[in-house]
Amino acid sequence: MRKVICVEPNRLEIVEAEIPKPSPTQVLIETRAVGLCSTDLYVMTGKDSDATYPTELIGHEPNGVVVEVGSEVTRVKPGDRVSTLWALGGFMAYADYYLQEEPYVYPMPEGIPFAYGLAEPLAAISRCVFGADIQPGDAVCVVGAGYFGQLIAQGVRYRGAFRVGIVDRVPERLAIARRRGADGAYNVAEGGIEQAKAELTGGEGFDVVIEAAGVQGGIDTATELLRHAGTIYVYGLHVREETINVKAWHYKSPRIQNNHWMYPVPFTTERWLRLGAIGLDMMARGVYRCEEIITGITGVEEIARAVDTMLHHPDQIVKAVIGPKAGGVE
Ligand SMILES: [Zn+2]
Repeated sequence: MRKVICVEPNRLEIVEAEIPKPSPTQVLIETRAVGLCSTDLYVMTGKDSDATYPTELIGHEPNGVVVEVGSEVTRVKPGDRVSTLWALGGFMAYADYYLQEEPYVYPMPEGIPFAYGLAEPLAAISRCVFGADIQPGDAVCVVGAGYFGQLIAQGVRYRGAFRVGIVDRVPERLAIARRRGADGAYNVAEGGIEQAKAELTGGEGFDVVIEAAGVQGGIDTATELLRHAGTIYVYGLHVREETINVKAWHYKSPRIQNNHWMYPVPFTTERWLRLGAIGLDMMARGVYRCEEIITGITGVEEIARAVDTMLHHPDQIVKAVIGPKAGGVE
């Protein structure tokens, strides 16, 4: 089978490898779709200071079709469409086949295409959507209209938000957010912060702002969007040290809460597994919609091009998925 390794920063190679054998508790899966995640991009481009090279630790959002199960596996059988949390060993699923332990394998709910049924990011999104304290009738704004920001905006509507806004700098992404149900989508580079507050909150500011941009300035934008004593949830992955305008907090008195994996529930595998099931269920119910959001659907031989597009052309793509099977992702 083929698998992708990152030989050194900015150099991916497709190499031949043996198809792995499942142990009694493992499932062998023919890969159909693997999400290309920012954390992968950090490793592939040398921005993750913990990465060592060459590395196979890329590709942690996979799914596919079961081809073989170990003797003790009972919940899935060959031929089943499944999604998984990670792959065995964590992050190594840009390959034609991958292994995972049975508890991490979910039957794919009916009607979800492989391109969209990525249990791992759907778990993270659901952690944010259901972990945020959103009161019925709240005005909520999301900072960042990437894959996560878009789906979080969809999810908070389901949680009872009355007004849902989203801000970004990429017009194409804002247009998608409008078509996917945001009440307003605003360009921060063109006065969008004040416009969002005026149009969606009568100028008062948002009760809740979820920062899903993970960039310098994202937290400050969140502070500006917030009403007095509202809550900022930090969801975006900030991998660099950043400067934050704490002075603005003095006047606004925000409540600041991390809303990614680590808090407030105990950081257990069991909790991740439950969230993956919740995420897939929310997609099956039509709450999360990925049309126009997952668009870069490409074969494994085109992975380098997909990486380049995600890094340098955010107007052309929100999220890519890689499909090793001939013809790409179904
Ligand atoms: Zn990810």
